Amino acid sequence: MKEVIILEKACISSYTPSALAEQLKAMGQPAFRARQIFKWLHQKMATDFDAMTDQPKALIAQLKERYQIAAPTIRRRQQSQDGTVKYLLQMGDGNCIETVLMRYSYGNTVCVSTQVGCAMGCRFCASTQAGRLRDLTAGEIAAEVYTAQRDSGERVSHVVLMGIGEPLHNFDSVMDFLEIISCPEGLNIGMRNLSLSTCGLVPQIEALAKKHLQLTLSVSLHAPNNAMRSGMMPVNDAYPLEQLIPACRRYQEETGRRISFEYSLVRGVNDAPETARELARLIRGMGAHVNLIPINPVDGSPYSATDDANVRRFQKQLEDLGVNATVRRRLGSDISAACGQLRREDADNKLERNQTP
Ligand code: SAH
Repeated sequence: MKEVIILEKACISSYTPSALAEQLKAMGQPAFRARQIFKWLHQKMATDFDAMTDQPKALIAQLKERYQIAAPTIRRRQQSQDGTVKYLLQMGDGNCIETVLMRYSYGNTVCVSTQVGCAMGCRFCASTQAGRLRDLTAGEIAAEVYTAQRDSGERVSHVVLMGIGEPLHNFDSVMDFLEIISCPEGLNIGMRNLSLSTCGLVPQIEALAKKHLQLTLSVSLHAPNNAMRSGMMPVNDAYPLEQLIPACRRYQEETGRRISFEYSLVRGVNDAPETARELARLIRGMGAHVNLIPINPVDGSPYSATDDANVRRFQKQLEDLGVNATVRRRLGSDISAACGQLRREDADNKLERNQTP
């Protein structure tokens, strides 16, 4: 029997401007074509080659043959009373991820996923409960932003890499995404309007520092000592605090950008007054900002949230100890809350989807 091999077409939305120029050059096309096509993909957010009306027909046919454009479909859409919109997006291969559009006074912010699932295993997080299925391509991550902008009809001015997945565990695609989204020929979202959150992969933090990007790096700290942090985040066994904190200090020195620490408060676990003191000692002198988030309880997790009064007490204590701390505004708390929850709910329908060819 003849073997049939179905080759996946390459994702044309994932090429940086220089990589796209290389591709087009290999097809015998001049550089200006690559610039035009990049604009079609990343400024006009085309989801179809036929939309590229200034391209020769023969080239469009060739492009269709070789490439696909990342164009997820909206499988579910939930709108919160505060204007936050949460999307369950289905990728070309049927996998689903979540994207959230938040409306702040300074502009619209999209929170993007970077992987299908996550391998990091944080005990309080819904995104990681079924592990990691695959990485998203740079083009798929960009398409999350384009889908939210197109659907809302409003310009997106900020992007946070805080959705499903560990961005630094998908390092190369995330770096390409940052270049694409900040490119003047694309949506032109400046690096200072981009934030990347990591659970603390030390070698990748070091690699990111060397790139000298002006983005905001957030580090999910959640605990000021190894026993407490390892209990919440298995990644701490690989990169304990005596490695992570010096890496954060070096990152600040190298890039001149202050790190922001995320600290999700869990009742009876990391919210005691002596823990606040320990946290202040740990990050003393860094000038770093601490973002306090009451934990969003997820099914199957033993953790519950610290009450609001205790959150404010924790914050005040940090401030009194000279640490700049804010409590994150909870947007969209009336819709499937913590990231990863919508995708998990949808997993119940997986069987049905897997049966369709
Ligand atoms: N993998 C990255 C980014 C994804 S999550 C990281 O770990 O930083 C973005 C933030 O939400 C992280 O600080 C993460 O620890 C936190 N988080 C995840 N689940 C949460 C929950 N149920 N309640 C509160 N914060 C949560």
